[in-house]
Amino acid sequence: TMSAESNASTSTSTTLLNVDLGERSYPIAIGSSLLSDSQFLQSKIKGKKTVIVTNTVVAPLYLATLEAALRAAGKEVLSVVLPDGEEQKNWASLMLIFDALLANKCDRKTTLLALGGGVIGDMTGFAASAYMRGVPFVQIPTTLLSQVDSSVGGKTGINHPLGKNMIGAFYQPEAVIADIGSLQSLPDNELSAGLAEVIKHGAIIDPVFFDWIEANMPALRAKDAKALTHAILRSCEIKADIVRQDEREGGLRAILNFGHTFGHAIESGLGYGKWLHGEAVGCGMVMAADLSCRLGYIDYVTRTRIKQVVEAAGLPSIAPDLGEERWLELMEVDKKNEGGKIKFILLKPLGQAHITTVPKEILLQTLRSSISN
Ligand code: NAD
Ligand code: MG
Repeated sequence: TMSAESNASTSTSTTLLNVDLGERSYPIAIGSSLLSDSQFLQSKIKGKKTVIVTNTVVAPLYLATLEAALRAAGKEVLSVVLPDGEEQKNWASLMLIFDALLANKCDRKTTLLALGGGVIGDMTGFAASAYMRGVPFVQIPTTLLSQVDSSVGGKTGINHPLGKNMIGAFYQPEAVIADIGSLQSLPDNELSAGLAEVIKHGAIIDPVFFDWIEANMPALRAKDAKALTHAILRSCEIKADIVRQDEREGGLRAILNFGHTFGHAIESGLGYGKWLHGEAVGCGMVMAADLSCRLGYIDYVTRTRIKQVVEAAGLPSIAPDLGEERWLELMEVDKKNEGGKIKFILLKPLGQAHITTVPKEILLQTLRSSISN
């Protein structure tokens, strides 16, 4: 199985997984009270000087706990609290991190700690990649999305006014520390958004995991610790295994975009921020399943299972009516090109991704049926 390669092991209440990237290998720890566990933090965070980067939403919830635990572990701790929001994932915020690092004479041995969701993780990782040409950093993801997706894989960066995630670097963390206790304060819609990426991991790689997600959706939405731990572990194993095979996105890594071609069209068609990314991906997976079914890659029962699990996750399954022309334009389908140039990530069958172009007429059938029912 995939997990054998990822070397998962369960001991006491902390689950450890190793991301195997040669010299850049690092552990992912999943557990319950990791933010306050000095001994544990000491074992995963090297160096004496640490700088926590977080935001105004997460700081009041978890910053004091983490600072106290780090100090008890003998660390020097400095904190940078940035404004919250995707629109703050920009150059100005990055400069605030550098300002604090330089003003406090932080050297090459300073470890940056990203305490927050994917926005904080992406920015802090990028700051770490560039500060003094690279300092160590540790991801401490506090959203489900960042625990199952963005903290794994080494993509870091910021947005540019002309494009999302356009400025960045591949830079791996020293460790990922996923404290599921931090999810207790996460709003339900943000939890659902993370579940979209969990469902995606099952759908493209692991039909057994997909079955498990279906069966455990109520427990996941109730934030049951055991269910969350398994969902995060298996998601990280799957993503880490794909990244191990294709760290720089030469090919295979593209399958992680299942549901994202339709999803990105929804996000950009409605205007970024109207739907959460995970909501758009949820609906996008339903559309990709519909397309897979129309092409004969999966049967109608499977298509319906995917729709139902997306709905059970609290995600939308009906696509917004952007108008056919706009939909095609957003997906960069050349109107003059009968086949359409864009490659879709489809299921053939459930548990296996298949990348292909599709006939425009069939794509239109999927668009029409996704909007109306
Ligand atoms: P986010 O970081 O904006 O977090 C969502 C909201 O929840 C924010 O308001 C945040 O402050 C708040 N929050 C965080 N932790 C909380 C907690 N424990 N309790 C209550 N509120 C909390 O969004 P996200 O969904 O975590 O991440 C999205 C970002 O991740 C995007 O910028 C996206 O581009 C990026 N991303 C990166 C990768 C990658 O491979 N690097 C992959 C996927 C997504
Ligand atoms: Mg995504």
